[in-house]
Amino acid sequence: MTTSTVPSPVLTRRDRCDRCRAAAHVRAMLRTGGELLFCAHHAREYAPRLLQIGAALSS
Ligand SMILES: [Zn+2]
Repeated sequence: MTTSTVPSPVLTRRDRCDRCRAAAHVRAMLRTGGELLFCAHHAREYAPRLLQIGAALSS
């Protein structure tokens, strides 16, 4: 196991949706420096609100 201070830009199978634990498809970087992961379903549901608060979405 290697340590890295840089978060991986690529979502892997280990990444899970923060809402339902399904496989994550979208990463949301918050302006506060926080990070949220969403499955396709929840990304669609939360994207408008996330963009509203200035979060950057990447898939
Ligand atoms: Zn989900």
